[in-house]
Amino acid sequence: MIVSAVPIQDETSVMRIILLGQPGCGKGTQAQRLVAAYHIPKLITGDMLRGAVEEGSALGKMADTYMRRGELLPDDIILSLMRERLSAPDCRRGYILDGFPRTIAQANGLDALMAAEGVPLDHVLLFEVPDAESRKRLRTRRTVEHRLDDIDDTVLHRLDVYRRATLPLVKFYEERSLVRRIPATGSMDEVHRHICSVIDGS
Ligand code: ADP
Repeated sequence: MIVSAVPIQDETSVMRIILLGQPGCGKGTQAQRLVAAYHIPKLITGDMLRGAVEEGSALGKMADTYMRRGELLPDDIILSLMRERLSAPDCRRGYILDGFPRTIAQANGLDALMAAEGVPLDHVLLFEVPDAESRKRLRTRRTVEHRLDDIDDTVLHRLDVYRRATLPLVKFYEERSLVRRIPATGSMDEVHRHICSVIDGS
């Protein structure tokens, strides 16, 4: 099958996407490429929280404790962070969400925010990758980025938290026919092309 590498959507299209997948599935890399392709911002909760840790803000101090343990921050904290971020002018034409929502409570919170704005969700891209592959990627990332939560024990815990807290979102969004499954084991280019074909084919 030949799929176009050039996105069909133009600069005026509006699109709201959620990226879903376990740690190490490659969401972050693809989020970056989607920003370039569709000209909408990426909202990455992990990056926002790591930024807060670096600033040493009250949120950062709290986030640091949870992140080191591979635990999720409380839903109300994340929801107020995202409520503020989603109301920024750059989100008017849409956004790519990576790392949010991560629990059913967060998904319900996002629903309420979007309903208040009167805007729809377009796609939930579910990145599918075997555990062994994502663990391998996280080990490589650890040597490159030195992320404190990429150590083996914490990785296993994060995978467990993903299964327990986040995987139920697949059913939640499947019930609304929003889930698009993306095989995420190919090269970065292949995965990107696949995502573009899914988005543009809709
Ligand atoms: P990964 O997907 O590889 O686990 P992230 O960068 O998305 O990494 O998240 C790192 C950490 O940030 C999580 O383990 C958690 O502590 C915190 N975090 C990020 N997003 C959320 C969220 N939506 N709700 C609660 N905690 C979050």
